[in-house]
Amino acid sequence: MDGVKLHRCQWQPIISMYLVPNYIGVNSLRRFSMMEEIITKGEADFVSMSRPFIREPFIINKWKRDHDRVPACISCNGCLEWIFKGNSLQCIQEMKKRVEGKGESG
Ligand code: SF4
Repeated sequence: MDGVKLHRCQWQPIISMYLVPNYIGVNSLRRFSMMEEIITKGEADFVSMSRPFIREPFIINKWKRDHDRVPACISCNGCLEWIFKGNSLQCIQEMKKRVEGKGESG
């Protein structure tokens, strides 16, 4: 899907059947259509994201208006490097935009 790499757990069906009643898919989920497909095919009961919410906390509202919208998060991991240095969590790309005076993605 457009260069997006999806990591699917090969053991998910077994985990769902015997160990965990609900399976939550997360990791590299960036497209609404991809998440919809995972749920529709029964590959997970729920889906979630991590880094896209850091850059765009209101991305769900944006997807309500436009399912095809591409998240602003570029998966650069700058936010992780930032917190591992002892800083509070924030998107490095948004920080760069603020320094350059280009606003926020929201
Ligand atoms: S720093 Fe990079 S990975 Fe983290 S939220 Fe921003 S764009 Fe995404």
